[in-house]
Amino acid sequence: MKCPRCEVELQPIERHKLQVNYCPSCKGMWLEHDELQQLEDEVFDFGDQWKGTLAFDSSPTADKCPECSASLQKFRYRFYDMEMEFCPNQHGYWLEDDEDTRVLELMKKEESELERKLLAEDKWSALLRHMRSGSFFDRLKGLFQ
Ligand SMILES: [Zn+2]
Ligand SMILES: [Zn+2]
Repeated sequence: MKCPRCEVELQPIERHKLQVNYCPSCKGMWLEHDELQQLEDEVFDFGDQWKGTLAFDSSPTADKCPECSASLQKFRYRFYDMEMEFCPNQHGYWLEDDEDTRVLELMKKEESELERKLLAEDKWSALLRHMRSGSFFDRLKGLFQ
């Protein structure tokens, strides 16, 4: 599997408790669609407000899905100002250069302010597992139609 940006072979690694395919050149990472059930839904309930948490770029990016070569679509997760791209054919997500580390820092800051404590790293993996589930992909896709 090759990096959508630099064509370097992606390497499977574990990062912040998640299996990702990492590009050693641009430090981007590809998160494959995860068929696991959304066990973390109670922890990470987007509820009815979930659409408001996402912002979209209307045009496809120049990046291609490493699996099917479709143009990746960009969106932003507002809470953490996190930018991601996703394959319209549900193969996965692309995150740029250490974006996960940046978001984790934000989550750690937040942690100290929350009453119900949740470790930032657990929160991060819960968020991404949620996003990698089929139903989340379906909803994303729906927004582009
Ligand atoms: Zn790369
Ligand atoms: Zn694809």
